[in-house]
Amino acid sequence: MNKIKMLYEGKGKKLYSTEEKDILIAEFKDDLTAFNAEKKGSENGKGDLNCKISSFLFELLEKNDIKTHFIKQIDSKNILCKEVKIIPIEVVTRNVATGSLTKRLGILDGKVLPFPLVEFYYKDDALGDPLINDEHCKILGITENIQELEFLRSQARKINTILKKFFDDRNLRLIDFKLEFGKDAQGNIVLADEISPDSCRFWDKNTNEKLDKDRFRQDLGSVKLAYEEVLKRILS
Ligand code: UDP
Repeated sequence: MNKIKMLYEGKGKKLYSTEEKDILIAEFKDDLTAFNAEKKGSENGKGDLNCKISSFLFELLEKNDIKTHFIKQIDSKNILCKEVKIIPIEVVTRNVATGSLTKRLGILDGKVLPFPLVEFYYKDDALGDPLINDEHCKILGITENIQELEFLRSQARKINTILKKFFDDRNLRLIDFKLEFGKDAQGNIVLADEISPDSCRFWDKNTNEKLDKDRFRQDLGSVKLAYEEVLKRILS
């Protein structure tokens, strides 16, 4: 399968059409962005790491009956995936309070939440991805019905259960993560985008060392080392 035409360039990936209808190639980039792309950087080899990590995690989820857009990894930074129409909601699941949640609600950073919190953010850079609820989704016409939102929520909770246990067994705390879903040609809602240290927060179970994009956001250094450590533990 070959890249025919670039259809879209996002912050972390480029999407290409292929000879086959409804099949795309996603290329993982080395670029890093934060704070709605106000902060920009690049880390040589980050694309390869995220490609490998995402591929592994999509396969893990597929084995656990979660439908995804993922078909296969084709080389170090490219995956083959089903074309989907992305639902413009960032589905964030949180096990521990940090980041924007602590700022918005004044919850202590690092507080373990009594249950996994699922939030919806409207995927719109110009608006700064605002937090929205089901009624906002309805008014904005983002989803066709309330059942679709319930489905996103239940998928996020299932995925959290699978990933939290997987990472816990590898000495990593899954703090929070962002998912994106899309509709395939048959109208099925499937998990899309990526699952990587760009979109998840991982803290070491013993030291709480941050092993994710917060190293870039907060200028903590050793960004690539942290992503390599996550991959090493995933493969262990
Ligand atoms: N996240 C993401 N893309 C975004 C916003 C958030 O991947 O545009 C992820 C982020 O890496 C974290 C989770 O979603 O794992 C929750 O992020 P939060 O709302 O705390 O935002 P931040 O602190 O990054 O502003």
